[in-house]
Amino acid sequence: MQLDIFGSNERENEICRLYWETDSDGFKWNVSQIAKEFGISSYEVQKTAKNNSKAYSDEHFCQHCDAPYLYSNRQNYISARPYKWVCDDCESEMQNRSDEMKISAIKKSIDINSKISLDILSARDAVFLLTLLRHSASEDLSCLNELSLNISDPRRLQKLSATRLLD
Ligand SMILES: [Zn+2]
Repeated sequence: MQLDIFGSNERENEICRLYWETDSDGFKWNVSQIAKEFGISSYEVQKTAKNNSKAYSDEHFCQHCDAPYLYSNRQNYISARPYKWVCDDCESEMQNRSDEMKISAIKKSIDINSKISLDILSARDAVFLLTLLRHSASEDLSCLNELSLNISDPRRLQKLSATRLLD
């Protein structure tokens, strides 16, 4: 375990050191022992350790960037087996990349300059297009309203479903 302790005074730092201190049997001190030593509650010991220290694994690393696993508390240290762990930064980056790929794929599939030829539409696509037009198009077909604009009227929503209720 790699410890990073950053308390604002020596007392906080000492609480953190004792909280995370291990020997061959596991954690060296009970939280209640530390609490008694400093005259505070067990909750305050855990809160002090959480707010003023970080304990990193030296066995488990992010599978993308090799950042060490950060233990949230002692229980997490004992029970965590993060073999295929991905850190929050990489998780967020992967999500952003995935969103960008979806947006790019949608943009590629829509060429706003070309007109839709009815000859190349499948029957399924034609039904969807007709459904969308009947649901959202203005009377003069000059525009399509957003789907959410019609969401307050349940009968309009039913019309969007390509079922036998479609009139
Ligand atoms: Zn990472």
